Amino acid sequence: MPIYVYECQNCKKTTQVRAKMSDSAPKLCNHCQAQDTMQKVIAPTAFQLQGGGWFAQGYSSSSGASGGSSGSSE
Ligand SMILES: [Zn+2]
Repeated sequence: MPIYVYECQNCKKTTQVRAKMSDSAPKLCNHCQAQDTMQKVIAPTAFQLQGGGWFAQGYSSSSGASGGSSGSSE
């Protein structure tokens, strides 16, 4: 499930929301309780930080084709 980042136009704080594509922005700011101030922002760094673990694990477990016998012929 994708994570969207919304910034409050009132207090300028960001909120991460796990939502589907069809879902809209949150009505209420979690920080200042202002209504209809949430604006979706693009934050690619947030995805990189949270996704740092899974691809490292998948990288080592996949493709075990090389190194069966110790190198006779290709
Ligand atoms: Zn706010």
